[in-house]
Amino acid sequence: MLLWRSLTSSISWPRPSLLTAASVHRGRIPLYNRLNPCKPIAAGRRAASFAAPQPELVREALFVPPGVAKENVTVGMVLPGSNIVVGPYAGDARIKHADFVKSSSRAKDCPKDDRPEFAVIGRSNVGKSSLINALVRQKDIALTSKKPGKTQLINHFLINKSWYIVDLPGYGFAHASESARMDWSSFTKGYFQNRDTLVAVLLLVDASIPPQQIDLDCANWLGRNNIGMTFVFTKCDKTKGGKGSHPADNIKQFQELIKTCYREPPPWIMTSSVTGLGRDELLLHMSQLRNFWGNNEE
Ligand code: GDP
Repeated sequence: MLLWRSLTSSISWPRPSLLTAASVHRGRIPLYNRLNPCKPIAAGRRAASFAAPQPELVREALFVPPGVAKENVTVGMVLPGSNIVVGPYAGDARIKHADFVKSSSRAKDCPKDDRPEFAVIGRSNVGKSSLINALVRQKDIALTSKKPGKTQLINHFLINKSWYIVDLPGYGFAHASESARMDWSSFTKGYFQNRDTLVAVLLLVDASIPPQQIDLDCANWLGRNNIGMTFVFTKCDKTKGGKGSHPADNIKQFQELIKTCYREPPPWIMTSSVTGLGRDELLLHMSQLRNFWGNNEE
């Protein structure tokens, strides 16, 4: 796990040209079968993708997973709308079952069965519940965390009876008192520092608004503490609006602001719970993190 953590938490950032390349790339049919890379795609579809224009590949900006040499990366290996390269650890990413397991008020009360888990965090209103619902394709599964009095709980959802998605409390409530904010940080930081089964954190960032200091602080804290993370940009469908509200510009700015914190590019991906953008790609990325973790656990 240590190797993976150093890969995902060491810092750099995607260059602007990659962002453009990724956007161009988004409409293409990828060479892998999105949810099940073990299953090849039909020959006709593959031929169609070869005929598509090839965007420029900026290797330094990519997140290259274990088992892949940077110089061997081709455009077809990069997940659309992201800087994430798919490697040999990617596996069947489909979610067949999702069950709410429990809410815990302390890290030490969380399930103790050693299954790998992904923690999902982000500012209140970032679209965390919507994303979790979209990932598991259940309309209200993440509502549990929204019930009054449950906002400061760690909620575990068991996926395919083998791994967890963990919904952590949102941060940055506009009207929260200083003490409530401090509670969030000590509570959540305790979870991050003590949870051995944590594969990676999905840090959700609202791409429809300019970068927010609280998100940058959170990213920097995770980076400094060597906690592997993936930036999941939400609400990327919100392309209408005035200056300062275009997701591609906001994402670029966000990456500019965090670039000094990372030696290697952390993975990032564009999503929308409204259109489904990035859902399958994110699940595939999670499968490769999970499978690598499973094969290299300390
Ligand atoms: P949470 O507080 O982080 O759990 O955020 P929610 O999932 O409750 O979403 C907050 C608001 O953003 C709701 O009004 C959602 O409908 C909206 N929202 C969430 N995801 C998206 C998205 O991908 N696109 C758009 N346009 N709106 C979204």
